[in-house]
Amino acid sequence: MADQAYVTLATNDEYAKGAMVLGTSLRNHNTTKQLVALIGPHVAEPCRAVLNCIYDEVCVVDIWDSGDTAQLALMKRPDLGVTFTKLHCWTLTHYTKCVFMDADTLVLSNIDELFEREELSAAPDPGWPDCFNSGVFVFKPSNETHRSLVTHCTEKGSFDGGDQGVLNSFFNTWSTADISKHLPFIYNLSSISIYTYLPAFQKYGHEAKVVHFLGKLKPWNYSYDTQTGKVKGHTLTPGSGDLHPDFLVQWWNVYSSEVLPALRDAYGETLFC
Ligand code: UDP
Ligand code: MN
Repeated sequence: MADQAYVTLATNDEYAKGAMVLGTSLRNHNTTKQLVALIGPHVAEPCRAVLNCIYDEVCVVDIWDSGDTAQLALMKRPDLGVTFTKLHCWTLTHYTKCVFMDADTLVLSNIDELFEREELSAAPDPGWPDCFNSGVFVFKPSNETHRSLVTHCTEKGSFDGGDQGVLNSFFNTWSTADISKHLPFIYNLSSISIYTYLPAFQKYGHEAKVVHFLGKLKPWNYSYDTQTGKVKGHTLTPGSGDLHPDFLVQWWNVYSSEVLPALRDAYGETLFC
């Protein structure tokens, strides 16, 4: 469908690697939707070239920072101010419906059925389940909604300093109004929940359709041994913030076999990884 798209965001080369893996994982599971990457002006040319091979559209957007260092410091994530840039996705009005996905998500099976849902559909946040997690959400592009969101941000700010706070206070009936807007958790399985509720993960984990590497440590912060197929320096320590080894290996399999060769070509074989 040409008027429906998955949208992601990468403001720098690190998150661009995530976007490459995400886009490849959507293609590997035969999506019929368009793929759009919003990128910051500082994403390097070779990364743009690889993104252009995977995504139908790569759009350069201005970086918008919340500047709310106090709130972000509370969450120990001074880097998240730039997530305000996500709100640009509402301006993609040549699509009638979209699914936004964070660049640190990985698709494990076809999820095109998400397009049957309405704005704003999202899964609960594992930290505060009356809020939705803004790593995966269904939305309807609209300049009017975009304007209202920007006004909302400017006047009220964000309670967590990032996009999730703004979106939850803007779409503030999500938790109570319409259960069809609650996506099942398997569409946004946060890697940290695996350790906070291990029995549930053991029962339902195999049904996961999207894994979200939420938190400070991202898959690209680890390294991978191509000989053994193992992620290096990874220990499974509950509560340590480590990502689940199986999902991490799946991310690295896609990265090393499908993304890295393209990056090497784009950088003229000089890339050292
Ligand atoms: N993001 C980005 N550059 C940054 C930080 C975030 O492009 O420096 C984008 C990226 O799409 C990322 C999303 O904003 O997945 C949300 O940030 P992150 O995933 O780090 O937040 P978390 O899911 O850990 O709360
Ligand atoms: Mn994320």
